[in-house]
Amino acid sequence: MRMRTLAPVQEVPLIFERSRSGKRAYDVPPLDVPPVDLEAAVGKDRLRRKAPLLPEVSEPELVRHYTALSTRNYGVDTGFYPLGSCTMKYNPKVHETIARLEGFRDVHPLAPEETVQGALEVMYRLQEALKAITGMDEVSLAPAAGSHGELVGLKIIAAYFRSRGERRTKVVVPDSAHGTNPASAAMAGFQAVSIPSDERGSVDLEALKAALDEHVAALMLTNPNTLGLFETDIVEIVRAVHDVGALVYYDGANLNAILGKSRPGDMGFDVVHVNVHKTFSTPHGGGGPGAGPVGVKAHLAPFLPVPIVRAVREHALERDGDGDAAERAVRYRLDTDLPRSIGRVRGFAGSFGVLLRAYAYIRSLGAEGLRRVAEDAVLAANYVMHRLKDVYALPYDRICKHEFVLSGRRQKAYGVRTSDIAKRLMDYGFHPPTIYFPLIVDEALMIEPTETESKETLDAFIEAMRAIAKEAEENPHLVRSAPHTTPVGRLDEALAARQPVLVYRPSAD
Ligand SMILES: *Cc1c(COP(=O)(O)O)cnc(C)c1O
Repeated sequence: MRMRTLAPVQEVPLIFERSRSGKRAYDVPPLDVPPVDLEAAVGKDRLRRKAPLLPEVSEPELVRHYTALSTRNYGVDTGFYPLGSCTMKYNPKVHETIARLEGFRDVHPLAPEETVQGALEVMYRLQEALKAITGMDEVSLAPAAGSHGELVGLKIIAAYFRSRGERRTKVVVPDSAHGTNPASAAMAGFQAVSIPSDERGSVDLEALKAALDEHVAALMLTNPNTLGLFETDIVEIVRAVHDVGALVYYDGANLNAILGKSRPGDMGFDVVHVNVHKTFSTPHGGGGPGAGPVGVKAHLAPFLPVPIVRAVREHALERDGDGDAAERAVRYRLDTDLPRSIGRVRGFAGSFGVLLRAYAYIRSLGAEGLRRVAEDAVLAANYVMHRLKDVYALPYDRICKHEFVLSGRRQKAYGVRTSDIAKRLMDYGFHPPTIYFPLIVDEALMIEPTETESKETLDAFIEAMRAIAKEAEENPHLVRSAPHTTPVGRLDEALAARQPVLVYRPSAD
């Protein structure tokens, strides 16, 4: 098995350590305006007494420093990234070109609506596309991420019950759920109630029914669930929740599995969030901007956050030969006049650049292409699962959707933990899968290959995973001490999380 072929790892010193007094990477032209006395202009007490501590380096040093750092990042552009639940698919570069078009890139959020009709049309069309894909009646593009969508969705649910004069305090969450689900429920003022999964990895219907009463506001669910398994009882689950007057929330993180195949709206869900940075391939990771549009059924539409983009048919223009004029008769506007809305949840109209990329993705694939995404994602996951299940334990041996969960419990017998397997994968040049999630699987390894990977890449990953299983048996120390080829080896993760060193302190000399 070939190890990673990246360039030999070198230490990259801090830019402050490269700094030498008097070096510069810039050259400013001579002053061509009258000089201003700063002290007179802003007042003496507002002036710095000491120059800020900034690194001083030459231009080539500056370029080399950041180029060296940029190659330290692992991303979907550097290699396979099978991070279960997070759908790290390849982000087509054409989206970046589109997002950089002047007319999109340079729009200002406060520009008058008449001057940004194209941008508003993109948002309107994305709302329509997401309605069609999820089967919901109305969509708001405002939320900034999936987790933010959850909070928004639950606030909508709270507002709905308030408007009916009902006081409901609980939100039911399966024990396989993503941590953001109970966290969002708590943030929205509900009490999260956990219910167990059954032995097939599905919602335990009896446990669900036992948890349901008139105090329950909602059930939060993702389908396929976090084990990558489709909830085949979904119609019955939704009916049981509706029977007690509660609503059903769909966590859209797993939408990739069902694109164009089935729709949360048809399954009976009342609220949905969509992680566009997962399913619709907008770049994510590293805390960058995201978007988590929320879709609702008609009974919840009055509570959506503002603004919503509306298309107003102004007047029927006469058509020219190819019917273009009829299109121009539509004007787009931001509707903020929703008296029962939960309000604004995000500055201006949302993460426009991210939403634009999602729209480009949906339009470039079309309905047929989106369906193929789901089919290929499911095929890839089943292929990898099938080829690994003789060496790693597979707690739920069923056909999976877009991801599956293995257990490292066999390797544990040799003293090798799942975290060791994950670290060792880095030596083979792969980003580790999600580990220790979902919580209901001992030593969980959650693998999501996505549809964008070739069979060669999947095979290379499978070979690496098989090689590591063998190493765990024959040379457990090698796996336990991995990684061996990365810039840093084992970190004290607990200490790093609690005492992060974020400030550069020059030494005394
Ligand atoms: C990623 C994820 C979330 C949270 O979404 P963000 O966009 O990262 O905030 C919620 N639920 C599940 C199942 C997820 O995988």
